[in-house]
Amino acid sequence: MKTRVAVIGGGASGLTAAITAAREGAEVTLLERGHLLGRKILASGAGRCNLTNSKILPEHYHCGQKNFVKEALARFKAREILAFFSNLGLLTVEEPDGRIFPRCDKAAAVLDVLKAELERLSVKVLLLTDAAAIRPIKEGFLVQTQPGPAPWQKTQADPQSAGEFRFDRVILACGGTSYPALGAGEKAYDLAKSLGHSVTPPSPALVPLCVKDHAWKHLQGLRLQAAIQVFSQGRVISRSQGEVLFTDYGLSGPVVLDVSREAVLALRQGAVQGSLNLFPEFSPPGLKSMLLARWAAKAQRPLKDFFLGIFPSQLAGAINDTLGIDSSRTLDSLGNDVLTRLISLVSDWRFEISGARPWSEAMATAGGVDTLEVDPKTFESRKVPGLFLTGEMLDVDGDSGGFNLHFAWASGLSAGAAAAKYGKYEKA
Ligand SMILES: Cc1cc2nc3c(=O)[nH]c(=O)nc-3n(C[C@H](O)[C@H](O)[C@H](O)COP(=O)(O)OP(=O)(O)OC[C@H]3O[C@@H](n4cnc5c(N)ncnc54)[C@H](O)[C@@H]3O)c2cc1C
Repeated sequence: MKTRVAVIGGGASGLTAAITAAREGAEVTLLERGHLLGRKILASGAGRCNLTNSKILPEHYHCGQKNFVKEALARFKAREILAFFSNLGLLTVEEPDGRIFPRCDKAAAVLDVLKAELERLSVKVLLLTDAAAIRPIKEGFLVQTQPGPAPWQKTQADPQSAGEFRFDRVILACGGTSYPALGAGEKAYDLAKSLGHSVTPPSPALVPLCVKDHAWKHLQGLRLQAAIQVFSQGRVISRSQGEVLFTDYGLSGPVVLDVSREAVLALRQGAVQGSLNLFPEFSPPGLKSMLLARWAAKAQRPLKDFFLGIFPSQLAGAINDTLGIDSSRTLDSLGNDVLTRLISLVSDWRFEISGARPWSEAMATAGGVDTLEVDPKTFESRKVPGLFLTGEMLDVDGDSGGFNLHFAWASGLSAGAAAAKYGKYEKA
């Protein structure tokens, strides 16, 4: 008889888990509480799906257990994930920074090849089917389900969506707390907790940051290259360099998302400051001599023209407003202390981080099921034999750049293959 595997959650990790389990000969049922599979895949990478990265390294991940990610991804670098997708027919391209996208630039292409493979393997898919409770029994598990939340009147739950089903193995691939509109929520952790797992409290990661009393109100929508540092209790806790996006509430953009997890965690302990360097490509002496020479060359010109050709006028205006100096004054009428203050501002523009945007704008979840309780090779629970946990619901989150989807695909592939292996975990 075939091993009956339930995969709970039709996101990135659930889809790869279902595919490998079925390829290994299991009879697979995929339960998804939403009305569609792979909703986060479709939204990922702004609809382009940054599915992995050519530089998959443990330092791009954050996890409560130091070696978990290293062991978990030992067999899965970009090459293995790309081979999996290439085998499904997906063509991909790598960008100069290592991020990898489908060649057609459409996230839907990634989901399409996964769904076609599910169909080819005759995986049974139950949409609008919410796994409400899981009970280990002598020979496997009883999964109790209820209809998932229908998004509109016409969408009907599968008639089989409410009931109690018996499975030999269960893979929990329920995602994290980020983007509740795409199926996430803390309720999924209750399933893991009900089975004896501990959950590190989730907090938003890869999330834009709110800044207190900033001078950037008129800069909304402006993007530029900068370096950012985050300070807590007088020390640097996170730094990154790349594109920053100014917003009405504060800051967003890839580098801000990357430092956000540490900022959000530090805010629990007290005040958190940030610093922007608008000239990250210059050394401090190099910047000083460049701006000194420019100051001398433009001595007869007004302060408002000093950054012409370097920054857009609204940013130059915000710099002058912050310095609090009449910008129509010529440079030679201003003392050297103004130049010193100006250099300090553009290379170390301090601000106070007041919080983060809500879960509905966080692209990842820091925290989740404690990885000490999960085998990094198979993703099997160390608490409940035959139960597997994958993807974002684990206490693992990656930097922006394709690292989160990579972990989701990889954990699903490992768990699906292990879950399908009949006999290994037979209970007494
Ligand atoms: C807007 C956005 C853009 C992103 N872009 C990228 C990107 O470009 N690159 C990248 O690497 N990462 C990106 N991410 C992160 C990435 O999408 C996630 O890390 C990844 O999708 C997690 O996969 P998962 O399978 O663990 O969870 P999910 O994809 O969240 O899937 C979990 C599924 O489980 C279902 N579910 C939950 N509970 C139950 C239940 N009780 N019963 C049945 N079903 C249930 C949910 O409805 C959901 O469909 C992005 C995230 C967001 C929100």
